[in-house]
Amino acid sequence: MNRRQFISAAASAAVLARIPRAGAAVKYDLIVKGGRVIDPSRKLHAIRDVAIANGRIAAIAANLHGAAADTIDASGKLVVPGLIDIHTHAARSKEAAVLCLADGVTGWIDAGSQGADRIAETIAVAKSAPQLCRVLINIGRAGILPEGDTMDLNRADVGAAREAISRNRDMIAGVKARLSRDVAGPNDFEVLKRAQEVASSFNLPVMIHMGQTVSPLSKLFPILKSGDIVTHMFAPPPNSIIDDDGHILPEVLAARRRGVRFDLGNGRTGHLRWDMAERILKAGFLPDTFSTDWTPEGRPEQVVNFPNVMSKFLMLGMTLDQVIACATITAAHAFPVFQDRGTLKVGAPADVAILELRDGTFDFVDNFAGKRSGRQRLFPSATILAGKRVAT
Ligand SMILES: [Zn+2]
Repeated sequence: MNRRQFISAAASAAVLARIPRAGAAVKYDLIVKGGRVIDPSRKLHAIRDVAIANGRIAAIAANLHGAAADTIDASGKLVVPGLIDIHTHAARSKEAAVLCLADGVTGWIDAGSQGADRIAETIAVAKSAPQLCRVLINIGRAGILPEGDTMDLNRADVGAAREAISRNRDMIAGVKARLSRDVAGPNDFEVLKRAQEVASSFNLPVMIHMGQTVSPLSKLFPILKSGDIVTHMFAPPPNSIIDDDGHILPEVLAARRRGVRFDLGNGRTGHLRWDMAERILKAGFLPDTFSTDWTPEGRPEQVVNFPNVMSKFLMLGMTLDQVIACATITAAHAFPVFQDRGTLKVGAPADVAILELRDGTFDFVDNFAGKRSGRQRLFPSATILAGKRVAT
């Protein structure tokens, strides 16, 4: 046997050694057994086992056979694609990402916590997070400011934002423009125009924070392009997306028709009011995505966690499948970084959230201290990230 033959023979032996004997060897790394699998990307809603190998979904079937190194008993629970939260402020603190992961959030976007001046700080946190995540750059170069990000229009600095994006193309997924009157004042339209100037040179989306703007939406919305995102879609007047007669504004319908996405953005101040959410849903204008607008301060109240935010819309009458879709596949479509996420199809990265849907009486609070009771609430139970069970 010459050297080449020897190497080849050794390689075959190694391959043979890895072929499992029937019934003896491990076939999968992990099997999630007996859960109610809800994967809106495939219109799947059934009791199934989910098998994972090499960090990917390997098989989904009723009563999967085959051994696994690890098994999770998910009977009585929901098994859904890992949740994707497209509007958080998780990059403000190092601890946030790990807390969100335990809630089932396997992907997130920090939506404009920082602008050009200190974008490196949010990027450093995002890079150290266990999940897949990206940041949006605030068009206000000093980021979120108590006195208003762009009340001083000079802070909406196109050059500074462009330079920051050029230096961080891999981590900056879009531009955030906060347009409320206490953030941008009468500058809202000009701030949005500048955000578009920055975003379009990199082919990135703009996310606008709407609600209580100085300018009417009929002035702001026409410069939103396909792929842009409107967050805080349920914000009450002035300048909400619905008129007093219960009609969605024509500019809003036109924006949706040309591919603008509408996002919840729960948050804590001025964004979510029950009567607005009810009227907008009643008009048939459903959200594309849910997001928490997560901050550490929202954790004890109002927001709590992503499954709690989702539960509010079960209370408001959306179906479980619709609610799961808004937190998984449609959220994944909003940013290219999540293109293979939000689904449990075979071959996809194995990011999975196991949730518990409990029956009972649960109180939910909007941003105006309005309390409503619901009959069901989702609770996080376990998270799988890249095929591995997350320690809790
Ligand atoms: Zn926010």
